Amino acid sequence: MSELYKLSAWEIANKLRLREISSLEITQAFLDRINQTDDKLGAFLLVDDKIAIETAKKIDSSRLKGDTLPKMAGVPIAIKDLICTKGLVTTAASKILQNWVPPYDATLVENIKDNGLIILGKTNLDEFAMGSSTERSAYKLCLNPWDLNTVPGGSSGGSAASVAAWQTPFSVGTDTGGSIRQPASLTGIVGAKPTYGGISRYGIIAMASSLDQAGPMARCVLDAAILHDILSSYDMQDSTSLNYDFGSMEQAAIEGTNQGLKGLKVGIIKQLTGEGFSKGILAAFNKVVALLVNNGAEIVEVDCPNFQYSIGAYQILMASEASSNLARYDGMRYGKRFLPDKQTVTAESMMKTTRDIGFGFEVKRRIILGTYALSAGSYEAYYGAAQKVRTLIKGDFTRAYKQVDCLISPTVPTVAFKIGEQLDDPMAMYMNDLATIPANFGGMPAMSIPNGLAANNLPSGLQIIAPQFKDYNMYFLASALEKLINFNFNPSGLTQLSKAVNL
Ligand code: GLN
Repeated sequence: MSELYKLSAWEIANKLRLREISSLEITQAFLDRINQTDDKLGAFLLVDDKIAIETAKKIDSSRLKGDTLPKMAGVPIAIKDLICTKGLVTTAASKILQNWVPPYDATLVENIKDNGLIILGKTNLDEFAMGSSTERSAYKLCLNPWDLNTVPGGSSGGSAASVAAWQTPFSVGTDTGGSIRQPASLTGIVGAKPTYGGISRYGIIAMASSLDQAGPMARCVLDAAILHDILSSYDMQDSTSLNYDFGSMEQAAIEGTNQGLKGLKVGIIKQLTGEGFSKGILAAFNKVVALLVNNGAEIVEVDCPNFQYSIGAYQILMASEASSNLARYDGMRYGKRFLPDKQTVTAESMMKTTRDIGFGFEVKRRIILGTYALSAGSYEAYYGAAQKVRTLIKGDFTRAYKQVDCLISPTVPTVAFKIGEQLDDPMAMYMNDLATIPANFGGMPAMSIPNGLAANNLPSGLQIIAPQFKDYNMYFLASALEKLINFNFNPSGLTQLSKAVNL
């Protein structure tokens, strides 16, 4: 097969097991694809051919020796550059961590290595995961493989674009307010975040710790499920990690495909199917509702009146936690140090210069907002009030789940927007998270699967949210729906990309 890079992760694993291909061969196929396309696409901040090839060779020789290998051994993967990789530069797409080499692996990276996956490189993102378009990367722009004039979403835009452009079979993203699901929706792929605490945060550069989670991004539900199982583990090094048996997501995906929707009660969130959502997105959503009904699911409309406050509360809570987490970048302990020009260098002037040059505009905006919200005179009025809203939103979920098994909504109000279109309009940019934030507030598992094309032949996403600990149910429904939706994955911008890079 000439286009090896089009294989899904589970197909690659099967072929490796049957020795139809070697890990070196498949790794090389993806590295070639990245080298050919990424100057234009901008999905990767770092590609490490050498380590990838070395690891692939090791896996191949141990397979030849007849060693028992983990099921996914030898399959390539890409990792968001917010996640620490020992010996491999990790920048959070910020100047302040330029050339920083972590002395340790994030727990999820250890899991990836223990499972014999081949790390191709680190993917592009909005600086410190703050954004919805990857335009806030301090290093480079990332384009959407469906239309090179549009953004891939964010903040895990590089993880999404690399999967959509066949540069990797799957990748890892992180999601604080929607950063896995929103770019998945904009690039026509699958992206999931677990129940809060399901995947260790140890070694993930913190944005807003009470909301941050990592998760899989892939072109099909089964690949996402397999990766989810690999990433998820109880970790003593993360105090919020859950020691809980979630079951096998791979199993859930298989059962969902086989068993279908009969008997499932699915809730439609009233507040997420009207105002603020584009016509095309709502039309695609209504189609999927009809599919559900025609295939034996029961549909219930649920009321979540407090969801309308989620963006406001998120801005306060996220910025407060981020301002506190980002206080550690002072040029003193680690990361980059920038020295002032003229004045005498003092600790204070050095820290000021470091943070002034090291952080980008959006990061500074959020640090200032968060510091203000946490200040003595404003704490109760802002941070306290936002925490109360978070509790109200959780209450909406609790009431909804008394009536249904899972909830659905469009993932994002619109399809991918044009590069530059929302950059100077923070309110428009923040509105991208309208449907995704509530699940982070509730600590619920949530995912996006492709749901056909909407405006301009660009993909739209369907969000599935399940109760805490019910990640299994979420994958079950996702997989059943994936089969019915039967999305034709064919990123139209890739022809444009091939031309641009003379392929
Ligand atoms: N787009 C959201 C923001 O800008 C979400 C970010 C995220 O989930 N990391 O904050």
